[in-house]
Amino acid sequence: MRVIFLGPPGAGKGTQARRAAARWAVVQIATGDMLREAVAAGTELGRQAKRYMDAGELVPDAVMIGLVGETLGRPEAGKGFVLDGFPRTLAQAAALDRLLEERGIALDRVVLFRISETELAERMTGRRVCRGCGRNYHVKFSPPQKPGVCDGCGDRLYQRSDDAEATVRRRLGVYERDTRPLVDYYRGQGLLEEISGEGPVDQVFEAVLRATERAR
Ligand code: ADP
Ligand code: AMP
Repeated sequence: MRVIFLGPPGAGKGTQARRAAARWAVVQIATGDMLREAVAAGTELGRQAKRYMDAGELVPDAVMIGLVGETLGRPEAGKGFVLDGFPRTLAQAAALDRLLEERGIALDRVVLFRISETELAERMTGRRVCRGCGRNYHVKFSPPQKPGVCDGCGDRLYQRSDDAEATVRRRLGVYERDTRPLVDYYRGQGLLEEISGEGPVDQVFEAVLRATERAR
């Protein structure tokens, strides 16, 4: 299975990508998670990316295309992948097409998460992330068993600095301007399946499975 999860920030892509990747035994390629790890580790990539992320802007295409190219070239990606947070611009989508073509493989589906802006804002401002394993929680919708502690690995949860209200608004604007055009791009390729990102996590997961089963 080779799938892209597309949709605005906070739509639930990461939450669903983690489940779907486990179900299909493929890798989850979450570019936001990769960048946050690089920032935490203080690498050159992290140093370059941080100022864009803090401002709610996109990290330059060349950096992201290099990063994803390298990841797709790893043996783990051979069985398939769920791309979560990439591509985010038309230039990234075109580069991805080239990367896949070079490897003689194609995408099976692009799943678009549809959701209202009010719900997005509430999801992002309540989001908490595990420092250790990157798993997502929500203070109201999916709290951990013990407040502030990851159910999976026991590490501490934190609030992303770009989930502050002003940055959330900026990121939604960037999505409309730079990422929304990908909807028509993938619709034109006959790959797009739209689902509702609202409702309980299990219900959304069922919708993801239905949308991708049609590609099997
Ligand atoms: P994205 O990866 O698209 O930015 P996330 O998966 O991180 O989105 O989800 C954003 C926030 O919303 C997280 O706090 C997550 O726990 C919560 N969330 C995800 N899916 C749902 C859902 N179906 N209902 C309620 N909250 C959800
Ligand atoms: P996310 O975790 O997907 O919400 O991403 C967090 C931030 O990382 C974004 O606001 C961007 O600054 C950066 N980022 C993640 N993926 C990409 C991408 N494909 N292109 C550009 N910037 C990205």
